[in-house]
Amino acid sequence: MPSSLFTDDQEALRSMVRDFVDREVAPYVEEWERAGLIEPKLQAKAGGLGLLGFAVPEQYGGSGTDDYRFRCVIMEELARVGAAAVNVAFGGFDDLVGPYLTDLGTEEQRQRWLPGLCAGELRTAIAMTEPETGSDLRGIRTTAVREGGGWVLNGSKTFITSGAQADVVVTFARTGEGEFSLFLLEKGMPGFTQGRRLDKLGQRGEDVSELFFDDVRLPHDSLLGTEGAGFRYLMERLPKERLFIAYYGLAAAEAALDWTIAYTRQRRAFGRPVADFQATRFTLAELSTEIDVTRAYLERCVLAVNSGTLTAVDAAKAKWWATELQNRVIDRCLQLHGGYGYMREYPIARAYADARVSTVYGGTTEIMKEIVGRDLVRP
Ligand SMILES: Cc1cc2nc3c(=O)[nH]c(=O)nc-3n(C[C@H](O)[C@H](O)[C@H](O)COP(=O)(O)OP(=O)(O)OC[C@H]3O[C@@H](n4cnc5c(N)ncnc54)[C@H](O)[C@@H]3O)c2cc1C
Repeated sequence: MPSSLFTDDQEALRSMVRDFVDREVAPYVEEWERAGLIEPKLQAKAGGLGLLGFAVPEQYGGSGTDDYRFRCVIMEELARVGAAAVNVAFGGFDDLVGPYLTDLGTEEQRQRWLPGLCAGELRTAIAMTEPETGSDLRGIRTTAVREGGGWVLNGSKTFITSGAQADVVVTFARTGEGEFSLFLLEKGMPGFTQGRRLDKLGQRGEDVSELFFDDVRLPHDSLLGTEGAGFRYLMERLPKERLFIAYYGLAAAEAALDWTIAYTRQRRAFGRPVADFQATRFTLAELSTEIDVTRAYLERCVLAVNSGTLTAVDAAKAKWWATELQNRVIDRCLQLHGGYGYMREYPIARAYADARVSTVYGGTTEIMKEIVGRDLVRP
């Protein structure tokens, strides 16, 4: 069933993005994965074409649109060529960090960071997870203690996407008993170390790193938003991060199915195309049905983001369902590729490794079910 989600404007963006992805991304994906680094200039090329900062107001260099469908187009086009790491790099700004800076930043903070981020000349990250805690964010140990007019930050973070490259990091820290705040940390601040890139299973082109804070002296204007409101700020913005992960999961599953249909039509066994076996067609039919049904729900969520009505529960449902689907679909598609499916030169092999984290980061499947389940039995 063709999607009716997109407007003519969004389809026009799609043809521009497709051209960009075919020219600037697809030929290099494997090389970047091997090198463990996406060509840094890619971000600036995307920024130059207006592909970053969709929701950022125009006066700060963005497109000033709250219509999330533009972001969906970008995700679909990157998924089509298996560029999961690039998707994380772009979405890391647009859907993860951008909303914090745009909604909570002072005029000075916005002027300082947003134009460079929208242009793709600067990189950013959000640091919540710590070595001892990820799901239980109230358990973080990083502290920011008031001193003089500012704060002194101590602690560490891990698994931070773009952490090694980031020029500015939105950092979640404890500022009192059961009280948390957000701070903007800048590359090069004394005591702030952007640590080693972690050796991960998939999405190898994008760095995921440790961060260390050793008596980092933060000036008063590094506070983002109001002191003590940090936990609420996360809870308000995590649904969008989760929809981002869910939507890419769906797009990745759709791409995997397309590659697999093409592959099974041309690959022959026992004198006929693999697609001619009823077992193959049943598998393809099941996957296609599951994808279509999932798309119907996610499209509703996308429209809910646009109208400002996406709830934490909606996003949690979308996230666990779509990312589990992504893994299920890609696993079965890999099977239909036989031995070639296990070779990294085939996009299905990379998609398999890239997909695995999606049920973990942004909140695990178990935590998503907790959010949904708690809401169902709430008195
Ligand atoms: C590639 C990658 C990129 C990441 N990027 C970022 C980033 O940019 N910024 C950032 O802050 N973090 C990032 N993370 C961290 C990620 O969000 C966490 O890994 C994730 O939230 C899980 O936390 P954890 O690893 O501490 O697992 P844990 O919390 O230790 O969980 C371990 C297991 O216990 C389960 N569990 C925990 N609590 C419960 C419960 N109450 N009920 C049932 N089961 C439970 C979990 O579901 C999981 O299966 C990234 C992680 C990865 C792998």
